Amino acid sequence: MRVLAYVEELSAALEGERAAGAVVGLVPTMGALHEGHLSLVERASDECGAVCVTVFVNPLQFGVGEDLDAYPRPLEADMKVASEAGATLVFAPSRDEMFPSEPDVTVHAGRLGSRLEGAHRPGHLDGVATVVAKFFAMAGPCRAYFGEKDFQQLIVVRRLVRDLSYPVEVVGCPTVRAADGLALSSRNAYLSFEEREAAPVLFRALQAGAAMVLAGERQPEPVDDLMAAIIEAEPLARLDYAAAVGAATLERPSHLGGEVRLLGAASFGRARLIDNLGVSL
Ligand code: AMP
Repeated sequence: MRVLAYVEELSAALEGERAAGAVVGLVPTMGALHEGHLSLVERASDECGAVCVTVFVNPLQFGVGEDLDAYPRPLEADMKVASEAGATLVFAPSRDEMFPSEPDVTVHAGRLGSRLEGAHRPGHLDGVATVVAKFFAMAGPCRAYFGEKDFQQLIVVRRLVRDLSYPVEVVGCPTVRAADGLALSSRNAYLSFEEREAAPVLFRALQAGAAMVLAGERQPEPVDDLMAAIIEAEPLARLDYAAAVGAATLERPSHLGGEVRLLGAASFGRARLIDNLGVSL
């Protein structure tokens, strides 16, 4: 596995892979790799001749007072597990290499980026869209693997590809969970023992919402209320939102139908966790 730090090297390496006939798989991450990330790498490895994992803690997607400095950066361990999962290349640029100065021209994630996560983390999805657009420009034609764990991010990235005509096929991959339902996340490392015990309430709330919808509830409000009540009943949880929305637009429909997505966010101590669950009607 090669490890590169410079954009020119990355572009040349992936161009070379394509010239040799390989499909390029791209797995953008912020590192601190866990089984969730590795499921994306393994899928890319099954489907592509070359697999590039990017490891970059993107400052543009962190708000003031968020955990940019504290975010874990275990690069050595990341390289080892990425290689074991089938990565052929790791791109780990410095902040200066990616953003030698504050970018002036950026991507706006639009209405999709202003709801839910966007409402609670203003500018977050613009920062994601901007860095992903840069990685796509550097990588060239590829298949890009993203987790459903960050469902709104996945929808924004699909829309970015469509609206800005990137030669990229976006592949959404299912959420990997711990045995008790908690979605794996690099931020789970912030949880104390008690918070870790409490955190699966987020997924349980989504499951209860899904059961309510499957039992016939078609108004979003009672579903939102049930999910919120379950999370709020956990003393260690601070609810940000819990919402049943249309999976394609992330807007609240008057009636639930078709592909519905239940999304929730809550903090446990200093760990802000998100999760989601799909229901097909
Ligand atoms: P991050 O490092 O948090 O930016 O995540 C990098 C990629 O891994 C994103 O596409 C995430 O959606 C995906 N990912 C993170 N956690 C999981 C998980 N538990 N299951 C599946 N994919 C995940």
